[in-house]
Amino acid sequence: GYRSRSAYKLKQLDATANLLHEGATVVDLGAAPGGWLQVAQQEVGEAGTVVGVDRQRIDALDGVETVRGDMTEDATKDEVREIVGEADVVCSDMAPNMTGEYELDHARSVHLVRQALEVALDLLAPGGDFVAKVFDGQDLDDLKADIEPEFEYVREVRPDASRESSSELFLVAKGRLTAPVAEGD
Ligand code: SAM
Repeated sequence: GYRSRSAYKLKQLDATANLLHEGATVVDLGAAPGGWLQVAQQEVGEAGTVVGVDRQRIDALDGVETVRGDMTEDATKDEVREIVGEADVVCSDMAPNMTGEYELDHARSVHLVRQALEVALDLLAPGGDFVAKVFDGQDLDDLKADIEPEFEYVREVRPDASRESSSELFLVAKGRLTAPVAEGD
């Protein structure tokens, strides 16, 4: 079995958006207790690399490297960059501590996606994919607009397993675009 029911969300995202491949390098942000790590490890196999990051402890998993740290802190981002040269997939299931206050939970969730995006833009190989959970709200369109120029396309996906949380959705950004050559280079 899986360590979390969230595992089924990643399975469905993968089935919908074709994210995980044999041999791929996957970085999973907000990975505890490790359900997504289990799914990713199965799909990339022994030739692949899976790295999980969380501020909570992640119990050891065969074939998975873990980092304990807060993704809003530079020290954690640096540690991840040191471990992973280049990634094929950066995914985030990070969620803020819920207050029940809709606007606040939304704003905090958007902030976490922006942290994940920063790391994704550093690490992703050309053609790589970025997936992040976000709670719906007023800043979603701005967030999406900031991700769009960096990828071939961005879509919103609501896995069946997310139905219990009506405001939860995933932004799936496919195909990291190669940085354009600056004019004058
Ligand atoms: N995908 C995981 C799985 O399948 O087991 C479940 C992830 S759970 C929904 C969200 C996780 O995000 C929590 O473990 C939480 O500690 C983590 N998280 C939230 N904010 C974080 C931050 N700033 N840095 C690192 N992890 C964070």
